[in-house]
Amino acid sequence: MLVSTSATTVTFASGAGSGSSTVQRVDVTPSGGTVVVVESTPFHPVDHTWPDQPGDSGQIAADGVSVRVTEAVMAAVSDEGVFAVGADIPVKRGAEGWTWLVGHPLDGDAPAWLAEGARVDLSVDVPRRAGLSRGHTACHLASLALDLALADLWRKDPGADALGAPNFEARANQSSRIHEDGSVDDYRLGKSLRRAGFDTETFAATLADREVAINARLAEWVGSGAPSRVVPEGPTIVDRRSWHCELPEGTAEILCGGTHVASLAEFVSISVSLDLTDPQLLVMTTTAVPAA
Ligand SMILES: [Zn+2]
Repeated sequence: MLVSTSATTVTFASGAGSGSSTVQRVDVTPSGGTVVVVESTPFHPVDHTWPDQPGDSGQIAADGVSVRVTEAVMAAVSDEGVFAVGADIPVKRGAEGWTWLVGHPLDGDAPAWLAEGARVDLSVDVPRRAGLSRGHTACHLASLALDLALADLWRKDPGADALGAPNFEARANQSSRIHEDGSVDDYRLGKSLRRAGFDTETFAATLADREVAINARLAEWVGSGAPSRVVPEGPTIVDRRSWHCELPEGTAEILCGGTHVASLAEFVSISVSLDLTDPQLLVMTTTAVPAA
């Protein structure tokens, strides 16, 4: 019997780290790994097109036995029945003609009990998830503080960010890598940014002052203990989600597929260091210190 797969429902937006569900399919991928898909999961998968936040790790269990999930990934099955995982998915997230899923790659082969139709318990490694959530929130706050700290360097309007500041982030960010309690962002400071009206020379000459300004702003935000949350537009992995944070300057809303803290009170501090060793490449390293 061919059971049709439906889009995976996800519960991580509300902060869930565990849940029960039914196995929809178990596939052995071309690379040899076994990937499990369930109807509803607490696992946050790494995005296959913008892999900023790593996927959750954890366990799938039933009747006292369990298997390890290495790192949850995006998966998709085409209307023709082609199953693809992660970077092997040939289309953009949410594309028509594909059903969008969360894949749970196993550390090893699937045991006999882990088969289509089985009822299972899913649990995410919660301390790691919490660290990644802090890292992701810190990453967004650092980018907003960066935009504010560079606002006077624009000769033309580059468009506004989530707090109304000139959007350096959108113009220059080329990669964002989130880890537990921090992130590393790369910004391209090339000709096109200069042509867009950004004063790269003054920026380079005042780098240390900019870093001080960003860190002062971040300290203020952490001190505010502002609420932070993920707002989903629907229940499945491909429904749009955004991060909302009620900062003193106003509520910032940023489209975001990741996980976040519930409050900035979860931090003791967030700070950045700016590196311009390569004058064409700004590297911003963000470090969060969690509250005990
Ligand atoms: Zn994000």
